[in-house]
Amino acid sequence: MKTIMEPSREIPVIIETDVLVVGGGSAGMSAAVTASRMGCNVTLIEKFGFLGGTLTSVTLGSFCGIFTVTDEAIKPVVKGFQEELIERLKRYEGVLPPHRWLKTASVSYDISCLKKVADELITESGVCVFYHTQAVSVVKENKKVKGVIIENKDGRSIINAKVIIDASGDGDIAAMGGAPYEIGSNGITQFPSSMFRMANVEIEKIVHITRDEYQGYFQKAKKDGYSLPRVSSGIHITPLYGVVHLNVTKIAREDGNTINPLRVEELTYAEIEGRRQVFLYAEVLRKYVPGFEKARVVDIGSHIGIREARLIKGDYILNEKDVLSCRKFDDVIACSAWPLEMHGEKDETKWVWIEPGDFYTIPYRCLIPQNIENVLIAGRNISTTHEAQASTRVSAVCMAVGQAAGTAAYLALKCDNNVRDISIKELQGFLQKGNAFLG
Ligand SMILES: Cc1cc2nc3c(=O)[nH]c(=O)nc-3n(C[C@H](O)[C@H](O)[C@H](O)COP(=O)(O)OP(=O)(O)OC[C@H]3O[C@@H](n4cnc5c(N)ncnc54)[C@H](O)[C@@H]3O)c2cc1C
Repeated sequence: MKTIMEPSREIPVIIETDVLVVGGGSAGMSAAVTASRMGCNVTLIEKFGFLGGTLTSVTLGSFCGIFTVTDEAIKPVVKGFQEELIERLKRYEGVLPPHRWLKTASVSYDISCLKKVADELITESGVCVFYHTQAVSVVKENKKVKGVIIENKDGRSIINAKVIIDASGDGDIAAMGGAPYEIGSNGITQFPSSMFRMANVEIEKIVHITRDEYQGYFQKAKKDGYSLPRVSSGIHITPLYGVVHLNVTKIAREDGNTINPLRVEELTYAEIEGRRQVFLYAEVLRKYVPGFEKARVVDIGSHIGIREARLIKGDYILNEKDVLSCRKFDDVIACSAWPLEMHGEKDETKWVWIEPGDFYTIPYRCLIPQNIENVLIAGRNISTTHEAQASTRVSAVCMAVGQAAGTAAYLALKCDNNVRDISIKELQGFLQKGNAFLG
């Protein structure tokens, strides 16, 4: 490839902050609000013009991962920041009560209300926010990342920070800082999806349609010649009357493999293919499913839904056995009861359930990237195997992990900014004061 030499240049240090959070998704907003409330000076940068990440830019049907579910009861295993967010959403009628589906339960929310509530939480807690700002490089000194180089409409500049929380979803900062990582399992990641919403749906007609029945409609359409890459679906009623959220598409490369979510050429292809599938599925729903006859696509996520990209290697790598055996770690910082939800090669989603009513724990060591002393990872890029990430990646779990990262960052400031030197007992104590569930 032809190259040119870019001339070196001086760039301004625009901020010196205690804690820098990169990415304002489920994990990042939870981490930033928490660290700021603990008394840290916190800056958050986000490449979009709003918070929420996948929750708002991709758009989802509901918050998953909050509960452990039995036939008798739905009990939360994620509280803290997630619970507060739901309480806030109620003020705007932006959330529905928990609803059961398959062997689990989740909470539907409205995307616009979530953007508003996230703005409120972040500004009220005193976090300094930069939207439309992307982290592009890091400045490292020995084993510490001293600053993050950013680019936005103001140009290129640097934010210096004592502790950095990488909540980019893709592990951008940890990777640039020299931490080892895998992309999925040998480059095979979970298949992405384009998410969308349809309005003018006759809710009374669709409210009792089961997942199996939707699958039957899609199978019938396939027999009639529609080329549908996926027949299992998540179709969620939202707080907006007549509007449903649809998780039905599945994007593969032309050769049938998953795209590389870190290659812009493949992302571009995926966005275009995703929107093609959205209108294909909309046509099928209108034709085959009673209640959808007059439905229209009103919204497609502004970003293709990436389930998995870099999995950063940390001091511990959570694995499938830990999840399925409901392992309880001494250095627990978050809990989850979400199954392994695998979006693999077949046209159906594979679910592997954990014991009803039980949960597994996530150890603090999964938040510490190898080779770096002052960076924490939070969200879908924490240290797990490809299989375990099929459970840890859901939004409620990312929020719980974000809350832990924000709290740990505060403690690291008292330990020469070294995230390995904090007291786990102190961390757990502060998390419990913050209403986090640790089992
Ligand atoms: C198709 C799909 C369906 C899903 N369905 C559900 C569901 O129904 N319920 C559920 O709970 N979970 C669901 N999930 C999983 C879940 O939503 C995500 O895994 C979770 O929200 C991830 O949160 P995060 O904060 O780790 O990362 P993200 O949500 O990816 O947030 C990362 C943020 O960082 C920003 N960013 C990235 N790089 C940079 C950079 N270099 N500089 C500045 N900013 C940057 C991004 O813009 C983004 O806002 C789904 C995921 C997908 C893809």
